[in-house]
Amino acid sequence: MRPIRRGDRGRAVTEIRAVLVGLSLLPAGGPPGADEFEAETERAVRAFQQDRGLSVDGQVGPETWRALDAARWHLGARTLYQAIPDPLIGEDVRTLQERLLEMGYDVGRADGVYGARTARAVAQFQREVGLSPDGACGPHTMNALRRLGRKVVGGRPTLLRESDAFRQSGPNLVGKVIVIDPGHDPFDPGFVVQDGTARWTEADLAYDLAARLEGRLAAAGMRVHLTRGPAPAAPLADLTRADLANELGGDLLISLHIDGHANPEADGVATYHYGTANGVTSSVGERLAGLVQREIVVRTGLRNCQTHAKTWELLRLTRMPAVRVDVGYLTSPTDRARLIDPRFRDRVVDAVVAAVQRMYFPVEEDVPTGSIDVSELRAMVAAGAATRD
Ligand SMILES: [Zn+2]
Repeated sequence: MRPIRRGDRGRAVTEIRAVLVGLSLLPAGGPPGADEFEAETERAVRAFQQDRGLSVDGQVGPETWRALDAARWHLGARTLYQAIPDPLIGEDVRTLQERLLEMGYDVGRADGVYGARTARAVAQFQREVGLSPDGACGPHTMNALRRLGRKVVGGRPTLLRESDAFRQSGPNLVGKVIVIDPGHDPFDPGFVVQDGTARWTEADLAYDLAARLEGRLAAAGMRVHLTRGPAPAAPLADLTRADLANELGGDLLISLHIDGHANPEADGVATYHYGTANGVTSSVGERLAGLVQREIVVRTGLRNCQTHAKTWELLRLTRMPAVRVDVGYLTSPTDRARLIDPRFRDRVVDAVVAAVQRMYFPVEEDVPTGSIDVSELRAMVAAGAATRD
């Protein structure tokens, strides 16, 4: 497949456009003029490349073509199995893997390749729903997935599994492993604002918040890990951060970011947890997100921009309840004035500590938002630790 170029109107372009229409990246039909046609196709190709983590050049080279070709397949359109030596690749495989991940099966990464690990996860799923565990995803397995898919939205086995694991872990912070992820790094500092002589970056502020939080949670008896130091030697992708959190066996992950926008009037705090557009969500993650969001809003007065379900890699590929909080807008003069004040950052940290503590209270014993005196935590925890074996 040669790259598409300006002026191409042939069969290849028609095929490419058909795939992009199927992915809702292009409207069906198309604009009348040739120039508009090309600009529109190129834009859609760029959006596709961005979404798939390919180099974004708007051209359909071999790699982009393979990805587009894989994207034609919708789950259920063909039987999926571990083909040897060339594994099946496609969007349907990726969707299947994401479903399995959502339900708590270990497929590794949702990479769209039907390998041995995916086959094993399918076999395990089949065993659990009473099908013969052949590791292939045909019509029967698809039916079971569809039936369960609905239950996952309502009754949610993953969540149940996640909640159970969480309940069994007990109401104490001592010994729990928390992974704190300061967003960005010096190579990709996120939002940057030059304010007079001062230069504020999202990466630095996120690290400062993470370091403060680390101290507080460690003092409360948690085992705390940061995904990066203040100046890591190499860029750190979210995928790497997720892998690290999994390797560390984290019980919780909190990723810290600061938001920004071209409009200086945009401000406020928002918290994100894992969830898909069709309503599948990590209930423990959702609960943590709700607590973090409410505690921060009540304790800091930042505008409440709500909690949201996202499928970002950091949230999707981590095996523990994970949330990302965007604490204020660096580009908002109001939020920025607060964020650069260390006392304000301490209040944010207090709020997150209170949220984490509330996660480990049984729901029925939970306390009102803003009511936990974080300075008393240590004494509480010490008392709790003394009664442990
Ligand atoms: Zn960020």
